[in-house]
Amino acid sequence: MKRLPLKWKLTLLYTFFMMLLTAGMLGILFSLSSGAVASSVRKDLEESVWDAFDEIEWEDGELEIDSDLMEVEDGIYLAVYDEKGKRLGGRIPQDVEEEAEVTEGFQKVSAEHRQWYTFGASAEIEDYGNIFIQGMISVSRAETSLHVTLRLSVILFPMMVCLTAALGYFFISRTLRPVAKITQTAREIYERGDLSKRITAGQDKKSAEDRVCGGVKPPHSEKKAKKTKRNEERRKGDEIDKLAETFDLMLDRLQTAFEKEKQFTSDVSHELRTPVTVILAQCDALLAEENCSGEERKAVEVIRNKAQNMANMIAQLLFLARADQKRMAVHKERLDLSVLTEIAVEEQREIAKKKEMQIRTDIPDPVDGYADETLWIRLWMNLIGNAVTYGREGGWVQVGLKREAELIKGYVRDNGIGIPQEHLPHIWERFYQVDSARSSGEISGSGLGLPMVRWIVEAHGGSITVESVQGEGTTFSFVFPSQ
Ligand code: ADP
Repeated sequence: MKRLPLKWKLTLLYTFFMMLLTAGMLGILFSLSSGAVASSVRKDLEESVWDAFDEIEWEDGELEIDSDLMEVEDGIYLAVYDEKGKRLGGRIPQDVEEEAEVTEGFQKVSAEHRQWYTFGASAEIEDYGNIFIQGMISVSRAETSLHVTLRLSVILFPMMVCLTAALGYFFISRTLRPVAKITQTAREIYERGDLSKRITAGQDKKSAEDRVCGGVKPPHSEKKAKKTKRNEERRKGDEIDKLAETFDLMLDRLQTAFEKEKQFTSDVSHELRTPVTVILAQCDALLAEENCSGEERKAVEVIRNKAQNMANMIAQLLFLARADQKRMAVHKERLDLSVLTEIAVEEQREIAKKKEMQIRTDIPDPVDGYADETLWIRLWMNLIGNAVTYGREGGWVQVGLKREAELIKGYVRDNGIGIPQEHLPHIWERFYQVDSARSSGEISGSGLGLPMVRWIVEAHGGSITVESVQGEGTTFSFVFPSQ
């Protein structure tokens, strides 16, 4: 089952507790209100009953009861009884029995369908004796205002819950927005490998190199002021803002470390280039000497091959380091791509011959398109070189190029050893080799060729794919816009 998003969970939890709290508060409020109503009713009843005693007097041998007692004022019924409980005057509600027991003090009694608050008191009337007066008021009438409030609450409570939930959702979503931004940034970094992304708005960092080479460094004091301002702002934010800023700081660190690593790779490759060129030159000089033969020659040849491998690897490393630092210039110009492809094929034909391999071409003449000449040749050299290296003795390599509408399409197919399926997604990774023992020939691979090929295709705005069946062969196909 799909788990609820955090903002929904928080909204539900918050609404649930708000409901509990509001319901509890309403409960307490009602019980307090009904207590207050009861005490106010009791006071009114008591007052009415005691006032009623003033309306009764013994005159001319008769008990005179004022007609006011017949009226029901403010819902209060007043009835006068003699000592034996016989009603002498006043009124009682219709649904209350005449002979109902009259009691002293304040009470809540039930009669038929209604409930009543009653208050009874006795007092002596001069020359007559004791009489008893009972006041009655219907509970529902006394609690009318309470019932109105209760009914209103029944309508208002769900509305309040909905409003609370909506407001809660709005604020929680706002609060959690930086978390979504963190996730999105992390995903973008993962998918595009772009470490210059930042979570806090407008703070995407240019590469360290850009900052040093292209950007103007702010003067020291200005820099310091900026830093202090940033620190102050940092202190102001809430926990999530701080998390976002800490994440950005971590990205700053990571980016600097990566930039340093790229710089290091570039510097080291540069430094190694000269000694390797010297070794190669010395080997060539030794091999050119007539008295270098037998074991000695073999040893020098091994050194030369290894030095050549190193030279190739250094060249590829430099290429990729420059590409990473965005220092790799791509000079696109209108070219006859078929001619350049043929040149690359011819270069590889010699090596293919040693393995008795055939290189067939399917290249119409001309194929016009915009590309960088050097990169174009490098692309084909790598793909055809791999097809020859991992091709079978006496096998074939097919090289194809065509222009289809606004697209340039190319492929290199071989009937070589193929690439196992589980390795296919990784062959574009740097230094990834399916199995270094698979390559035939004196020159061994480095695992940098295909990442370089992919970079070239992408730098031309295209894409490259691979299809392979182990033991049957491999096809690399690429496509990019001709303009
Ligand atoms: P390498 O310098 O080792 O050839 P690449 O990046 O060019 O490095 O290739 C990566 C891996 O992909 C190689 O180690 C090789 O095993 C495999 N590979 C590349 N092209 C082919 C091909 N045409 N046939 C079989 N395997 C290939």
